[in-house]
Amino acid sequence: MNDISQFPYGISILEITYILASVFFIFGLKMLSHPLTARRGNIIAAFGMGLAIIATILFHKRDGEPIGNIPYILVAIIIGTVIGLVIAKRVKMTAMPQLVSFFNGMGGAAAALISMMEFPHVSPDLIAKSGMANGHVLAILLGLMIGTISWAGSMIAFGKLDGWIGDLRVKALKYVNLTIFAVLIGFIVFIMTRNVQASAELTPLIYIMFAVAVIYGVLFVMPIGGADMPVVISLLNSFTGVAAAMGGFLYNNQAMLTGGILVGSAGTILTILMCRAMNRSLLNVIVGVFGGGGQTNISATGSVKEITVFDAAVLLSYSKKVVIVPGYGLAVAQAQHICHELDKLLEEKGVEVKYAIHPVAGRMPGHMNVLLAEADVPYEQLIESDEINPDLTNTDVLVVIGANDVVNPAAEDDPSSPIYGMPIIKARDAKNVIVMKRGMGKGYAAIENMLFYNDKTRMLFGDAKTTLQNLVNEVKSL
Ligand code: NDP
Repeated sequence: MNDISQFPYGISILEITYILASVFFIFGLKMLSHPLTARRGNIIAAFGMGLAIIATILFHKRDGEPIGNIPYILVAIIIGTVIGLVIAKRVKMTAMPQLVSFFNGMGGAAAALISMMEFPHVSPDLIAKSGMANGHVLAILLGLMIGTISWAGSMIAFGKLDGWIGDLRVKALKYVNLTIFAVLIGFIVFIMTRNVQASAELTPLIYIMFAVAVIYGVLFVMPIGGADMPVVISLLNSFTGVAAAMGGFLYNNQAMLTGGILVGSAGTILTILMCRAMNRSLLNVIVGVFGGGGQTNISATGSVKEITVFDAAVLLSYSKKVVIVPGYGLAVAQAQHICHELDKLLEEKGVEVKYAIHPVAGRMPGHMNVLLAEADVPYEQLIESDEINPDLTNTDVLVVIGANDVVNPAAEDDPSSPIYGMPIIKARDAKNVIVMKRGMGKGYAAIENMLFYNDKTRMLFGDAKTTLQNLVNEVKSL
């Protein structure tokens, strides 16, 4: 009987499906780069992954035999799918960043588990078959190290974003982390130079290496706080991709390899962009060193001046140029739709309205773009902070909605501040500043913001959604 899983020239259905899945990943990723196509891109990439999983179950052969344990695999898939669906459906938009961190950690954990499962089975036979000699063992060890760091680091990032883990700012940690990292590399070199035929005897070392990598993952994310979390989040993301790619090498699985490389390279590019946006060095990120000393010298002086909703409506309606700076509070209040209603009303009155988007505003990379896209704010209205900053001196009113750290002048004025050196939206350059927030609460970096005490600034206190609704009503009545 013909083997239906085999095409002419020795190409199998499995290989063709993996190539197809890879094409879906690439198209999906491309579509993620624009808010209008992102949702479809996500579905296309997920479809590619589904295809790869089904094809593996149906067509993968081990020593000429179909894979076993199918009932267990199906039960695991069903449990994972149900848990994933329930969590994703129930999660509040504001808890999305923690969820993304958690899911990223699961990817790292899966890669680490693969390495731990496979190491004891390394045999000269297997190595000869894979045609990679020591590359096989190296892929296992790197998958273990990077996957474990990604899992442990992502769990700490999850706790920090959820607010139940604080920062551990100890200067010596930099040296401790460098030492632990050197120990991990030492493990890899040691195991690689042993006789791989004795891999079963070396297995206990794998568990010790796992424990050391957990400690490293925890310690390198622990000191990170202030405004630096976005950089570490994208770095952990790239780690998970690289760890998954190691699994692809190991199993000679093209879909896993392409998926891992895409996540790894996209995460690396994002990390570099985030480092640039935050004015940080990549080496410091890897050993867990950030920002200034963590203790700011600035304490609140002077008084804040408030503005009424009516006065704010008048000021905005009779302006020529208005710039809105959205921040985390806009997401918390879920005020993006009413915010867009305000900008449309102002534009109808002949006011030019733009949004200034800071790369780390909110709690995940691209958070403000996603939030405003949800409210159908045209993409052309969103301007990156470095592009809009030179224009702020010509701006009549700058409206800060639920943002704090991204407009905090301490980043320019106070070398001891944890956000020192981070490029900000230069709000104080505008002719007038209106700040909408509930009270005098601090931002994520937990430091004082002297913009609120600036002569040009007027505070409009209240929940952003309620305040914006009142403002819309006033603007309509003018
Ligand atoms: P911030 O966290 O600095 O400030 C948010 C402000 O919103 C608070 O000061 C709060 O003040 C106000 N707020 C909260 N709820 C409401 C509400 N319902 N209505 C009105 N205002 C509200 O936000 P930014 O966006 O300016 O900065 C983001 C920070 O998060 C940066 O430090 C960034 O590094 C960090 N971060 C970013 C990540 C990313 O990937 N983008 C990931 C992790 C951290 P009040 O309580 O007085 O209302």
